[in-house]
Amino acid sequence: MAILVVLTGDAQPLGSVVVGLVGVVGAAAWFHRQALVRLDTSRRTEAESFARILQGLSRSVSPATIVEAMVGDLGRVTAADHCVVVHLERQTGALVATLVSMRQGVPSTTSVLPPIDLDTSSEADPERVVERLAAGVEAFFGIANTLTVPLRHERAVIGAIILSRRSPEPWPAATQRVLAGAALEAGAALERVDSSRAIEAQASTDALTGLPNRRYFDEFCGLLGRHGRADDEAQLGVLMVDIDWFKRVNDTYGHDVGDQVLRAVGRAIAETVRDGDVPARFGGEEFAVLLRHATRQAAIEVAERVRLAVDGLDLREWRVPGVSVSVGVAVGARFDQPIADLLIQADRALYRAKRAGRNQVVAA
Ligand code: GH3
Ligand code: MG
Ligand code: MG
Repeated sequence: MAILVVLTGDAQPLGSVVVGLVGVVGAAAWFHRQALVRLDTSRRTEAESFARILQGLSRSVSPATIVEAMVGDLGRVTAADHCVVVHLERQTGALVATLVSMRQGVPSTTSVLPPIDLDTSSEADPERVVERLAAGVEAFFGIANTLTVPLRHERAVIGAIILSRRSPEPWPAATQRVLAGAALEAGAALERVDSSRAIEAQASTDALTGLPNRRYFDEFCGLLGRHGRADDEAQLGVLMVDIDWFKRVNDTYGHDVGDQVLRAVGRAIAETVRDGDVPARFGGEEFAVLLRHATRQAAIEVAERVRLAVDGLDLREWRVPGVSVSVGVAVGARFDQPIADLLIQADRALYRAKRAGRNQVVAA
């Protein structure tokens, strides 16, 4: 059983120095995180693995979907035979484990593990917690030759990712790095879901449309920014989408119908964009979409597809003849253009689309 140390000082001398000097535990995590990010972005293959894992996380708004995305992608990029993600659910205290076999056609299974005495109190030794967690998972699923990495929120262990394979050879260093990076993101994502459940006001999902909200969108952009590479040619695109004359819809058909129209438009946008893209409700009758790996031409085409999808919505169920949207488009290279700038540009383009008569796409 191998256990990978992610946030303790052992694997990263700078971390323990910082802890010793300033006594701030969070700083060690932060430094180590930066080191890992540098380490993991230093090789293209690993960066690509990250991109895939991130893509899985981009739409993840429940623990189940996060785990699904993590496990499937990790198995593929690490050549493991099995991958298990185990997560201690904060609300229920249950240890929920999802096992995915990398063999074709073997379905994944999600189980609640029998209680394991984890002792997750703040004085507990995190490495002991992880060992017990890994042993419990090995016994439950009957797997061996494992590589385990803890999922953490600050110091607390909230779960683990466990890879296993038939071959008893040591795990390659690259696999360990990919796993460590994935654990940081998964831990953060799972923790965000846990806290957003607890604190409704901070939820990442817009209650009306079910789309990610502005907060999630901003967090996700931040995550992308941290993984950005100076030599990465990939461009990011932003669409700002605003429903035309929406106040009239409310005034004519009532606020409840307005809400149904907002839901329908949200669905149409989400169904039109690709899986790795992030649609969000920005507030009111305004939506944004983050497009990854978009050229200017491709972004304009997606915007036009969104416009047509909304234009073609059948809203007769609510006696609404139809609605349209105006769309502003901006595209930039990720390494030299903060996403906030793209949003401003897209917003200006949207304003021009409105002034030019609405129901149209304008690119910055
Ligand atoms: P424009 O084409 O210039 O965008 O015109 P508009 O009427 O869409 O824009 P305006 O900003 O004047 O009005 C937006 C309206 O959206 C006003 C507000 O009441 C409505 N709205 C915002 N949030 C919601 C919501 O959650 N539900 C409903 N039903 N209406 C909402
Ligand atoms: Mg509007
Ligand atoms: Mg508006």
